Amino acid sequence: METMPKTNVKKGAPRTKSKADIARTIRIMTEQYGPFSQEPRLPPTDEMVFTILSQHTSDINSSRAYRRLMDRFVTLEEVAAAEIPEIEMAIAPGGLAKIKAPRIKEVLNKVLELNGSLDLSFLREMPLGEAKAWLRRLPGIGPKSAGIVLSFSLGMPAMAIDTHIYRVCQRLGVIGPKVSADKAHDILEEKVEPEEVFNFHISYINHGRQVCRAQRPLCPECVVGGLCPSRKKFMTKADLAKLAAEEARTPAGSGGAPMPHVPQPETQTNKR
Ligand code: SF4
Repeated sequence: METMPKTNVKKGAPRTKSKADIARTIRIMTEQYGPFSQEPRLPPTDEMVFTILSQHTSDINSSRAYRRLMDRFVTLEEVAAAEIPEIEMAIAPGGLAKIKAPRIKEVLNKVLELNGSLDLSFLREMPLGEAKAWLRRLPGIGPKSAGIVLSFSLGMPAMAIDTHIYRVCQRLGVIGPKVSADKAHDILEEKVEPEEVFNFHISYINHGRQVCRAQRPLCPECVVGGLCPSRKKFMTKADLAKLAAEEARTPAGSGGAPMPHVPQPETQTNKR
């Protein structure tokens, strides 16, 4: 297990993490929460529809809505040709059906118009930037949705920054405090090696859900706390004193304080 350095955020230090430090956080978190396996997911157009269904709802509800949609219509070509109220009825269990039904129909018809078919597997052969740009021409497809399709369905090194990843990145100083979630996609694709994008995605989500929570993050238990400029902001005086004592006990030149214990999740899933 990799050891951590002492907290050492120097005055005048760069505001954001170097590529090497980001790689280190990925290694440490993957060791903590992983290993992760990249299971085959839905075909790209189905993944895109699923992404729309999963907006502002739980994974359970969006899965139910997707299954109902495909039971009702069997193929996405049929969904593209269907009347909006019929789609709305099928996806009702996912919530926000009135908004999502026309969105799904519109995006499918735009794919047909641009591509002549609903098969988006050709994107895999494109350079990442071009594949992203192609998807971004579709109505309602932003950087996160494009990243999900390219990364999860096609196995490309695209970023898909959700609220957990964004929060962890900001707190760790991986991105600057004023960088928007949309802009973070391009920045992180530069800073994370392509072969590490999947581990980055899943480990940062796990970390955001389990430890670096929106409210009351568990900083004293954090495995990347030694690299985090926000840690002291969230810790109590007692925790800070304990941390200082631990750091004082760590012999100079050693790898740092021992890795704190963080409970393993009950299940490891590739949830967004
Ligand atoms: S030290 Fe705290 S704020 Fe920083 S990454 Fe860990 S849990 Fe989040």
